[in-house]
Amino acid sequence: MKITRITTEAFRWPRHKPISNGLHTYTHSGLGLVKIETDEGITGIGLGSEGAIAEATIRHLTPMLIGEDPIDVERLWHKMWVPKLIGRRGMTTRAISAIDIGLWDIRAKVAGMPLYKMLGGYRDRVPTYIAGGYYEEGKGLRELADEMIVNVEMGARAIKMKIGGVSIREDVERVKTVRDAVGPDVKVLVDANCAYRHWEAIRIAKRIEEFDVYWFEEPVGADDYEGHRKLAEATSIPIATGENEYTRYGFRDLIAHNSAAILNADAKILGGVTEFMKVAALAQAHDLDIAPHGSQDIHIHLVAAISNGLILEFYRDSVDPMWGKMYHHTLRVNDDGTVSPPAVPGIGVDPNYEALEPFRVHREVATA
Ligand SMILES: [Mg+2]
Repeated sequence: MKITRITTEAFRWPRHKPISNGLHTYTHSGLGLVKIETDEGITGIGLGSEGAIAEATIRHLTPMLIGEDPIDVERLWHKMWVPKLIGRRGMTTRAISAIDIGLWDIRAKVAGMPLYKMLGGYRDRVPTYIAGGYYEEGKGLRELADEMIVNVEMGARAIKMKIGGVSIREDVERVKTVRDAVGPDVKVLVDANCAYRHWEAIRIAKRIEEFDVYWFEEPVGADDYEGHRKLAEATSIPIATGENEYTRYGFRDLIAHNSAAILNADAKILGGVTEFMKVAALAQAHDLDIAPHGSQDIHIHLVAAISNGLILEFYRDSVDPMWGKMYHHTLRVNDDGTVSPPAVPGIGVDPNYEALEPFRVHREVATA
């Protein structure tokens, strides 16, 4: 089997309203696709190529992939990831990730099985949390509580909210509001998106412990491994981090510093499926859990494949207006609060071009 053509597509659409976390405001959402065509008529869909830099990197990498066997993911990953030539981290590794995800889509389609089965098939129902609780204009405590109540009505047994964007006193009030709204049996997760210094994170952690917080995500800067450790030693709330970490080497360092109990690995960032499975194995060797960051359509397969997959992050229409529309198949929360991978060969991502077309950023451009 040979790769014959690689193309990228990008779509970008406005959110209902700008949403903010502890550090950033997002006005738009989007979708980046890499299509990998083969001489046997099977096409792989890779995710995560949005942005001009990623697209340029994919065009740069394409000539070395044309004519190669897409099944040879380990060899092709190492052919692409050459630090001296493209750098060790950042957008170039994200571009490799998108290609690698597309290669695994081909692999699983060739095998005739869903990706999670091919990777290990540990389970087909994965515990899930609905992520949200952003800061928005006009969103007060009542609106925050209403959002969380809808999440629970959708079947969620766990929810996540943002902190770090307002004063500690106000955030403590927000966490209390959410705990009161969802009751004692729903897991409440908080995410600061790196907004704090470690001493601030310790202060708020001590004040929200009483609300039985399931995890405290990205309390401090992604490179502040020591800050993570100091916080972890000061609070009973488990620390989760890793969505800004790259490759097995980044996770090796995070683990070596005892920075987190839960690793938010992201296959679209850290190096694709090939590298994600290595990170999962590294975590297994340290009895640490993986709770992937975002991108539920690929991560449902990865968290279902491994024995240390803790919980899936799930976004719904409150955060992304194209939820339920961008693909022909949409993941739903089961009655028991879990999510199941689609039972079709590959990743099961089939873009709904009718819905996406108005938001196309670049016309499809052949890269080889
Ligand atoms: Mg996060």
